[in-house]
Amino acid sequence: EKFKDGLAKTRNNFTGKVNDLISRYRKVDEDFFEELEEILIQADVGFETVMKLVEELRTEVKKKNIKDPEDVQSVISEKLVEIYESGAESSNNLNIQEGGLTVILFVGVNGVGKTTTIGKLAHKFKQEGKKVIMAAGDTFRAGAIEQLEVWGERVGVDVIKQAEGSDPAAVMFDALQAAKSRKADILLCDTAGRLQNKVNLMKELEKVKRVIEREVPEAPHEVLLVLDATTGQNALIQAKTFKEATNVSGIVLSKLDGTAKGGIVLAIRNELHIPVKFVGLGEKMDDLQEFDAEKYVYGLFS
Ligand code: GDP
Repeated sequence: EKFKDGLAKTRNNFTGKVNDLISRYRKVDEDFFEELEEILIQADVGFETVMKLVEELRTEVKKKNIKDPEDVQSVISEKLVEIYESGAESSNNLNIQEGGLTVILFVGVNGVGKTTTIGKLAHKFKQEGKKVIMAAGDTFRAGAIEQLEVWGERVGVDVIKQAEGSDPAAVMFDALQAAKSRKADILLCDTAGRLQNKVNLMKELEKVKRVIEREVPEAPHEVLLVLDATTGQNALIQAKTFKEATNVSGIVLSKLDGTAKGGIVLAIRNELHIPVKFVGLGEKMDDLQEFDAEKYVYGLFS
């Protein structure tokens, strides 16, 4: 249901167009596939992924001897799930250290929804009975620390911070000490997201990561890149930049509720080979969902 509500815009746009296509055609021919390609590209599925998807559809339609466009919809759903699941090597599940401290680092440019995502995840873990701490590692953007504190109060989780402008690596060091001494299960670490100065940002991330690696063996257990679904192909470009600079283990695709082009999920998985672990479907604390390709496709077509 959450997926269904959150995907309303994409459903109205993308699914609406697919249904319209199906109703206009009497038989599944080359024109049908070409129009379908166009619809998929407009939904931000991404050129390569669309080509692959439609090629597989053609094969499947031939194999099953499908003539009626009405019967193509279920094949489209199947192929969407399949293509998503074949896109990455690793799973959607978070690498959680049961009985120990799990450190999760969040990266991404300003405005993508990083702070909100951290707040939502803090809430989710707290509800699961875990002890959570948040680290205010974005010491650069004005208001970032306060914003995380607001989330801390809202969900009842402590925030470790220093003054604006201080060294993020020092904040991280403090947060790691606090997490260890308070026997926290989860440490969620915010980072700065100014992409104007890419070299400095990447250096800062490296330094923060080194502190974490030194204090907790095998950490960070996850590096989650937050991308804004409403920025479409731009999100892909950001992802490529971050992927070059750091080991991104998963994507959080925020604001999926705000776009009619939800196909970006497929493009990310197929063109970056990084799993989408969560999607943001609104601004409230419950509006974060673990990504599941079947539920997503079901949300689109039911
Ligand atoms: P940050 O600069 O990356 O930390 O971004 P913020 O967390 O401050 O988010 C920027 C804006 O996007 C805020 O107004 C959030 O409420 C909004 N936002 C974040 N995630 C979502 C989402 O999943 N859906 C919607 N509709 N808005 C979101």
